[in-house]
Amino acid sequence: KAWCRAHPKIELHAHLNGSIRESTLLELAKDLGEKGVIVFEDVEHIITKSGRSLPECFILFDLFHVIATDHNSVTRITREVVEDFAAENVVYLELRTTPKNNESKGMTKRSYMKAVLDGLSAVDTVELVSSPFGKQCDNSAKSSMPFCNRGCGAQRKRICVRLLLSIDRRETTAAAMETVNLALELRDSGVVGIDLSGNPLIGKWQTFLPALTYAREKGLPVTIHCGEVPNKEEVNAILDFCPDRIGHACFLDEDDWQKLKASKIPIEICLTSNCKTNCVPSIKDHHFVDLYSIDHPMILCTDDPGLFSTSVSNEYYLAASTFELSKSEMHHLAFIAVDSIFADDGVKHLLEEIFESYEE
Ligand code: 5GP
Repeated sequence: KAWCRAHPKIELHAHLNGSIRESTLLELAKDLGEKGVIVFEDVEHIITKSGRSLPECFILFDLFHVIATDHNSVTRITREVVEDFAAENVVYLELRTTPKNNESKGMTKRSYMKAVLDGLSAVDTVELVSSPFGKQCDNSAKSSMPFCNRGCGAQRKRICVRLLLSIDRRETTAAAMETVNLALELRDSGVVGIDLSGNPLIGKWQTFLPALTYAREKGLPVTIHCGEVPNKEEVNAILDFCPDRIGHACFLDEDDWQKLKASKIPIEICLTSNCKTNCVPSIKDHHFVDLYSIDHPMILCTDDPGLFSTSVSNEYYLAASTFELSKSEMHHLAFIAVDSIFADDGVKHLLEEIFESYEE
């Protein structure tokens, strides 16, 4: 466990509001209860419950959407989430979030994103490396200082953060397009790609396809939640689209598996999330095993560390202990994640140096 925590790691599939600290979630929910916006007692047990089903998770996501209508809360959550990932030696984080419109609260997708960016600028207990967020930009530090902290913890943790904007499956084509346009506008502010997420039982692939195609035409990489529920037609369409990465990939028919394996599309693997939401029968039966045996590109991720009470270190520990992987195999798994990041080559080289120089 200590080894998994100390080792540098890359997180590519973490939803901002699903990464909220439980203490912060309880505090903000209580506050909303006192203001009469929600009935705190209705959500308290879901917040503190472990082992939620996918539908229960989406009930909690509705709460996140209420919490996320307050700009200050969004800023606070963002700052804390980055600090928490850095604390466990995540050296590169692609944090994804759904820009939200809420007229009655004076929130637009743009103002929501400003609150997120303010949160990144407000990070001060850890150091943002290679940062476009207007603070502590330090591209040269790699040669003078080790990037991540080992041992006594005398120096501040350092993390490189980039953002993905999520299209929610509840959205219309126009709303999805607005998100892609916002992502293009915010490229210089650290946005590096687009994600399609939200309740997999809602929405049609054709609704999102124009925006995803547009993102691709404009050179924005795309990652897609795929096969969280059985939906052969959609899985087929997603594989035909050939996204830059895929999340989950749990319910695939044999022919789709063959197609996915041949495509070599990197897969964001979320072990705890897939188990807790019953997308796989157990961790030992996870498709990780099959994919690992053929060297398919994979990245161990948390999905929603707050929601599923996990951490990147814990996901590494689960993989190592369940699949009996050695330290050098785990090091290799952590290292090859660099190939799948959406950030530019400068960041890739920085990360390669970190992993190459890390002594196990
Ligand atoms: P946010 O985008 O508000 O920062 O993060 C929470 C949102 O991410 C949820 O409302 C949901 O739309 C999406 N999300 C989080 N976890 C999952 C997941 O496991 N599957 C899917 N499909 N969407 C998710």
